[in-house]
Amino acid sequence: MKITDIFKKQERTFSFEFFPPNDYLTAVKFGINAGQLMKLSPSFVSITYGAGGLTQTNTFDLVDLFHNDLGFTCMAHYTCVNATKEKIAYDMRTLKDMGIDNVMLLRGDKPKNGPFLYPNPDGFDYGSDLIKFVKDQYGFCIGGGAYPEKHVEASSLEEDIENLKRKVDAGADFLITQMFFHNKYYWDFINKVEQKGIKCRIIPGIIPITNFKQIKKFSELTGATIPDRLMKKMEPHKENSKEINKIGIDFALEQVSDLLENNAPGVHFYTLNRCRAAITLYESLSQDFKDVKMLFEKSLKPQMPTPKM
Ligand SMILES: Cc1cc2nc3c(=O)[nH]c(=O)nc-3n(C[C@H](O)[C@H](O)[C@H](O)COP(=O)(O)OP(=O)(O)OC[C@H]3O[C@@H](n4cnc5c(N)ncnc54)[C@H](O)[C@@H]3O)c2cc1C
Repeated sequence: MKITDIFKKQERTFSFEFFPPNDYLTAVKFGINAGQLMKLSPSFVSITYGAGGLTQTNTFDLVDLFHNDLGFTCMAHYTCVNATKEKIAYDMRTLKDMGIDNVMLLRGDKPKNGPFLYPNPDGFDYGSDLIKFVKDQYGFCIGGGAYPEKHVEASSLEEDIENLKRKVDAGADFLITQMFFHNKYYWDFINKVEQKGIKCRIIPGIIPITNFKQIKKFSELTGATIPDRLMKKMEPHKENSKEINKIGIDFALEQVSDLLENNAPGVHFYTLNRCRAAITLYESLSQDFKDVKMLFEKSLKPQMPTPKM
């Protein structure tokens, strides 16, 4: 099913993002965690795509498993930074033949040093170029990336929003944001995007913090600023993963509640292949939000084993 068709039925969507595990032990952990999260009946799931090439086949394998074996609406992420038009066409045809309806199309991060060429003479320079190419030929429902605190390479938010408009004009059907921790950035961004005349659902992407070092690194890479008060809370416990988890869940609960109270169109969770934070969040949110309550209560009911595998 196309995600845009889900939007027609669900005012708000709740989705989970996973990345392909790269060894057998993390694959086992992934299976256990994803299994728990799938019980929450997400609106859709998405699988990331490694720009460096290592996990590209695994992405397609996982997308195939979630869509064809488990029966979930699944979106395949895809980046063009290291791909020729010929490879992109081949990969899109592969996804189409698999029965996939949804793709998240991105440029990907520029390689810092070899072995790739950027710009790629036989490929595309920006997410919008990739979206245009795919839109014209394959009939996918297309998601794109949006950056409430601007993309790290953009010289200003205004310039980045100009480029976002190109992405939507090229055919993006909806957008998911980069992680952010200040809701003010999201709402200011939504206002500016609307003022530019961009009409597109923009789902906030939220990451429940589970690891101090990791989140500092993500914040540096993505430009997502961590509020001082959160930093001050985490710093004394940075070596204590249990405490960081607790602080992360409390903060995400506050952040997501505020977004939903203000009518955000749902939440896309960057799960980092872990389930505990999302389950705890759903449990707490279910007390205040009808749509979350439905999902959470459904997850508590005994379910039949998935039939197709
Ligand atoms: C929801 C989400 C999911 C993601 N999933 C993945 C994933 O699975 N794998 C992965 O490797 N990465 C992923 N990323 C990260 C993403 O690949 C990087 O942020 C990448 O650097 C930008 O990709 P983009 O398509 O959003 O950028 P683009 O839209 O191409 O923009 C990149 C930069 O170029 C500028 N720009 C755009 N168009 C033009 C133009 N015509 N002229 C001049 N400048 C322009 C923009 O302002 C911006 O600064 C994800 C990001 C998000 C938000």
